[in-house]
Amino acid sequence: MKTIVVIGAGPAGMMAAIQAAANNNKVILLEKNAKLGKKLMITGKGRCNITNIADLSEFIKNIPGNGKFLYSAFKNFFNDDVVNFFEALGVPTKVERGGRVFPQSDRAIDVVTALADKLYDSKVELRLNTKVERIIVEDGLVTGIKMSDGNILKADAVILAAGGASYPGTGSDGSGLKLAQAVGHKIMPLHPALVPLVSEEAWVRDLQGLSLRNVRVSAFTDNKKTDEMFGEMMFTHFGVTGPIILSMSRQIALDVASGKKIYLAINLKPALTPEKLEARIQRDFQKYTRKQIKNAMIDLLPHRLIPVVLNFAYIDAEKFVNAITKKERLRLVNALQKLSFDIHGVRPIAEAIVTGGGVHVKEIDPKTMQSKLVNGLFFAGEVIDIDGYTGGFNLQAAFSMGYTAGIMAGK
Ligand SMILES: Cc1cc2nc3c(=O)[nH]c(=O)nc-3n(C[C@H](O)[C@H](O)[C@H](O)COP(=O)(O)OP(=O)(O)OC[C@H]3O[C@@H](n4cnc5c(N)ncnc54)[C@H](O)[C@@H]3O)c2cc1C
Repeated sequence: MKTIVVIGAGPAGMMAAIQAAANNNKVILLEKNAKLGKKLMITGKGRCNITNIADLSEFIKNIPGNGKFLYSAFKNFFNDDVVNFFEALGVPTKVERGGRVFPQSDRAIDVVTALADKLYDSKVELRLNTKVERIIVEDGLVTGIKMSDGNILKADAVILAAGGASYPGTGSDGSGLKLAQAVGHKIMPLHPALVPLVSEEAWVRDLQGLSLRNVRVSAFTDNKKTDEMFGEMMFTHFGVTGPIILSMSRQIALDVASGKKIYLAINLKPALTPEKLEARIQRDFQKYTRKQIKNAMIDLLPHRLIPVVLNFAYIDAEKFVNAITKKERLRLVNALQKLSFDIHGVRPIAEAIVTGGGVHVKEIDPKTMQSKLVNGLFFAGEVIDIDGYTGGFNLQAAFSMGYTAGIMAGK
């Protein structure tokens, strides 16, 4: 029987503790918050997108931050295992658009409660309000941890699952990275990975609150198209956010940091070729022939976008439809399919959904999640330099790494 200390009761740490306890080991789970799974509770807008039904190769493609490192962990415990795990705990799941898996109840709290019950059944000793200050290493071997009250816990193995540095209010304030660094691990520079984008253009900010579905957004870096995504986005008081913006933000954050010039172009009618769109506009113009153009586009666009698009096309909003020229119509097509605006920055890492950077993957054995520098020290979750897109990829990564670290530490 071993004594195993797990640092952090997020999805990675809770899964690790449950698995480590399987061999009759004594497992102590330390969490600095007064509650476990504080971040898990707010995932998926409170609905908790626990995984995705994508196959293994697709899954890894959706984890641009070192996805390949997860190959073994995914082999050990993949999306069907997560679904079975929660279903066995009385949390049935459902699949939504994009293969995203949620609890049928749409309640993240059901996921957290199931994990809490399983921790209890597995006889894991949970200590809340307990912050770990140091991992103790002697002659390259982990021997325990020191807590912020000065007390020491001896351990045969320690699993560090303290998360990244985003949403620090949920507990993941970067302190886990300092713990790893203090025992000699290299920390890859942190960067916001899924983060809203800042634009100072007035019309973008004026549209705050407006959501667009089924649009295609292209990103241009130093005038070269670098990315393109189809789906949903939203305007905010500082710029833009929403699923496709967040997914594109990883590279944009890196490019902005290195001084590159970025602009986005929204295609509001991506299903139509320019010719078909022009024909569609002509049909609308026939229908509204006696109206001013600002009142003739109501079938085509959300009300608030009409003046913006007309402005882009240099068309007077008061002009009557029957006076619109062919040239103006072509400019309108172009504005509808290339509504462009500059990106001036990204929101801070504290507001990122996921932290990029973290403990260097080269110093962790992907088969066991054990440190290559310190015997008996294991890692799991966002504390490692791994980040995925939205869609359930990050939680699956946390569960898979937690599972592997727990099993291996418990052996
Ligand atoms: C708003 C939001 C929505 C999200 N939605 C989704 C989603 O729907 N699907 C998805 O796949 N991913 C989602 N994510 C990402 C996902 O939540 C994270 O990737 C995941 O929680 C990482 O798990 P973790 O266990 O590694 O870290 P965390 O969940 O961050 O847990 C780490 C825990 O360690 C504790 N801790 C830290 N330092 C110490 C210390 N020194 N001593 C003791 N305890 C410590 C913290 O308090 C925390 O409880 C979302 C993230 C956010 C912010």
